[in-house]
Amino acid sequence: MRPEILYSLFYPVSKLAGIGPRLAGLIEKLAGPNIVDLVWHLPSGLVTRHLAAALTPDLIEQNVLLTIEVIRHSPSQNRRAPYRIACAVNGEPLTLVYFNGREDYLRRLLPEGQSRKISGRLEDYNGAYQMTHPDHVVKMDEVDTIPLFEPVYPLTAGLTNQTFIKADRQFLPALPDLPEWNDKPLLAREKWSSWKDSLLTAHAPTKVEDFDRDNPARARLAYDELLANQLALELVRRSMKRKPGRALVGDGSLRDRISGSLPFSLTPAQTVALAEIAGDIAGSHRMLRLLQGDVGSGKTVVALLAMVQAVEAGAQATLMAPTEILARQHFRAIEPLAEAAGLKTMLITGRLKGKKREAALIELAAGTVDIVIGTHALFQDDVIFHDLGLAVIDEQHRFGVHQRLALSAKGRKNGGVDVLVMTATPIPRTLALTAYGDMDVSVIAEKPPGRKPVDTRAIDLGRLDDVANGLKRKLAAGERIYWVCPLVEESDVLDVAAAEERFIYLKGLYGDQVGLIHGRMKAEAKDETMQRFIDGDIQILVATTVIEVGVDVPEATVMVIEHAERFGLAQLHQLRGRVGRGGLAGTCLLLYVAPLGEMQKARLGILRETEDGFRIAEEDLRLRGAGELLGTRQSGLPEFRLADLQAHSRLVPIARDDARLILEKDGKLESARGKALRVLLYLFERDNAIQYLSSG
Ligand code: ADP
Ligand code: MG
Repeated sequence: MRPEILYSLFYPVSKLAGIGPRLAGLIEKLAGPNIVDLVWHLPSGLVTRHLAAALTPDLIEQNVLLTIEVIRHSPSQNRRAPYRIACAVNGEPLTLVYFNGREDYLRRLLPEGQSRKISGRLEDYNGAYQMTHPDHVVKMDEVDTIPLFEPVYPLTAGLTNQTFIKADRQFLPALPDLPEWNDKPLLAREKWSSWKDSLLTAHAPTKVEDFDRDNPARARLAYDELLANQLALELVRRSMKRKPGRALVGDGSLRDRISGSLPFSLTPAQTVALAEIAGDIAGSHRMLRLLQGDVGSGKTVVALLAMVQAVEAGAQATLMAPTEILARQHFRAIEPLAEAAGLKTMLITGRLKGKKREAALIELAAGTVDIVIGTHALFQDDVIFHDLGLAVIDEQHRFGVHQRLALSAKGRKNGGVDVLVMTATPIPRTLALTAYGDMDVSVIAEKPPGRKPVDTRAIDLGRLDDVANGLKRKLAAGERIYWVCPLVEESDVLDVAAAEERFIYLKGLYGDQVGLIHGRMKAEAKDETMQRFIDGDIQILVATTVIEVGVDVPEATVMVIEHAERFGLAQLHQLRGRVGRGGLAGTCLLLYVAPLGEMQKARLGILRETEDGFRIAEEDLRLRGAGELLGTRQSGLPEFRLADLQAHSRLVPIARDDARLILEKDGKLESARGKALRVLLYLFERDNAIQYLSSG
């Protein structure tokens, strides 16, 4: 239950005077439904008003606070003309301008012959002083109501800054004094003040430095949020670790047999990662581990050998992929190796139906199947394992965070399922800590030997014909080409149209050697086309980004990406990772439409400079910010209101260590600081982590 001290923060914003249902709706969309959401809605700018006794040219384009004498109203003659009011400041003429001004209202506000205090931006209109829509107009004795500094809030259509300022006046003075949850030495070292004082400061900026991310008030609030996040993750992690796992120890015979049949030996990085995973599986705790490795770093074989260990110990293992194509690809890679070692494998996807599916599920439940590979279809309730010991989830960022836990619930009642999550998206350290802080992490940081660097070039789309004609030699050599078509935002219909157009164009040059694949095709048709590409029946595959993740065609050597400037850096890196996998040198042609913006230039430049996925991810974070990086919503990445993972990255490991230390000392959060930390979890609505406390 939410602590009483926080009640007032969780009232709906409509409880504030002046905020009716319409404004409340707009505020909810922009910030959130409750007062606390307004609390977190910090100003992004500042109006500084200059007190001016007279009009001077240096005040033009500045915000000024003036005394005016109202001389004469000139209401608008037609709809388009503005309403003008001639005034004087110390004898110097000033015109006030209102668009769509109502005469009765303006005459009451600014009666002719009287003086008023006004504020607004001073403009120069054809050599005369003018002010459009003053932001404050008050009687002479009310000048104190015009502040010299005023915060400017992020807005949306229909909301004015004054709405926020009026709301602030109501809830800021009434903020509760919350118990301090931060460590005293940390507060002292960072020069942070209390939660409430930090908020009051953040909402009342008086200089540009107040907006620095490192400004103590803002940094403290960001830290609070990061700490709540880390504490929640650490609670989940500890509770997972407490759950009984199973010690799945094999005798190594199957694993040796499969390793021996591989045409290569594991790289040192693969060996280390496998040893870490094997140790977890053999240990009596439940495993929740992330295996991070760039595209082509060889995660699949590590996953296979881990699954084999579970099977050796008498359990079943499953590998779940985000798409049908990828599940099939894994199946094709794993089945022959596993079956040669005497293991039974099975593929379960949404396309397995009717009698065949029934028969498969019976075998699965009976335990005659050792390794199951599949898609989301594995989540269905009637998919029952005889004895699931290890679940591997490939390409995590396509799955939600909760699905990690859902799969692990497929095990026997009192034997926890070990979970291994694999991701090919290199995640900057800061992000990994905030998104996957509940997991242990293994990293494969090197690629198998013999890979040649991909020759990456940026080419103006105007040279399309040259590029298309240049593919002839590659085709003659039997190589395969991906041609990825522009990503049209929020419209897969347009995506498809663009891909179809390019397909027709390339077909004109290369006839039946060209195939097309896109997201609106039926799964069967997609797979069939993909299969023909793998088999070499078609050599050029025109595609929308459905090929993005994981697809492995060793003969593919050329990746053409149209409108590369529209793709994210990480996405381009993923796409490029599709070529040059089979020992042949790869080429990546980034076709862009000139002129490129600075950011777009920087992105393409980084891509040409490096193939190091981690470096690219760091640069991506730097250029774009975390939210966008993996697509916050789909990725299950936490959304932060106050913390900026780029600017505040320094604070993330501090929060992580702090969270670990706190829970080591006070696992149930029962000390005075522990109780304050519970308030923190509720404050940032991470309270579903509280359940992991009491279940202790
Ligand atoms: P990832 O899933 O990490 O993108 P894969 O597991 O698909 O990468 O591996 C990419 C390719 O590298 C596959 O063709 C695989 O057979 C091969 N491979 C994996 N490990 C090694 C290794 N140690 N030496 C040589 N080739 C390897
Ligand atoms: Mg893979």
